[in-house]
Amino acid sequence: MFDYNIFVQGFPGKSSTHGGLGWSTISLLSQNDQNIIIDVGSFGVRKLLLRRLHDKGLSPDDITMVLLTHTHWDHCVNWTLFPNATIVVGRVDMNWALNEPLGESDVPELYVKELNRSPQTRLVDHLEEVVPGIVAHQTKGHTPGHMAYSVDNGDYDLLFSGDAAKNRTELLSGNVDMTLNLSESQNSIDYLWSLWMRKTGSILVPGHDIPMKLINGKSLYLYKREADLQCWFSDTLGDYTTIVLE
Ligand SMILES: [Zn+2]
Repeated sequence: MFDYNIFVQGFPGKSSTHGGLGWSTISLLSQNDQNIIIDVGSFGVRKLLLRRLHDKGLSPDDITMVLLTHTHWDHCVNWTLFPNATIVVGRVDMNWALNEPLGESDVPELYVKELNRSPQTRLVDHLEEVVPGIVAHQTKGHTPGHMAYSVDNGDYDLLFSGDAAKNRTELLSGNVDMTLNLSESQNSIDYLWSLWMRKTGSILVPGHDIPMKLINGKSLYLYKREADLQCWFSDTLGDYTTIVLE
């Protein structure tokens, strides 16, 4: 059994004036001396991520593995924080990312180049068992080699969908925003549902939303949403306006 912790909640939104927020989900799975992080977020979340680790009594050195769902900047750049971790990434996604034209996509070109030549990197294929109980599932569309990960936790599974299903709305509607291939994305959503329904009580963790449990066919959020903006709109530094996003 893996102990599951959500470190940073994903947020299902974007900005019409500032583009993608990149507020993605970061999770920790622990079992004995294995500490596995699923997706590592981007620069803005670094201090928060380190604080969450510290609160668990862990340092970055204690992370044994990082599972990346895909090679977009908001999910992958912080792999550099974990010197002792094996960094798992889909083989197809890595090859795609390395060949993306500079500056045209959400791939952080230099971080991906470095990841490709790092001895820490392990490329995985569809249905490969990454460690006992954890399987990679190619779920393409959002990117050509996107991976979801299923975790067999006995009575129930944990399913990390990454951006194959960014949020609850995409799962329920079967329709997606920001994809490279809509029909592939729709097939991936169907595939995720088939995984999710294998065991009652399984938990699905989207790339940009709160984990959900399937109860009597209904997907229910497991946690309350935690997201806000702290804005300096006045003349005084300490006097900021908090906008709660829920
Ligand atoms: Zn993405």
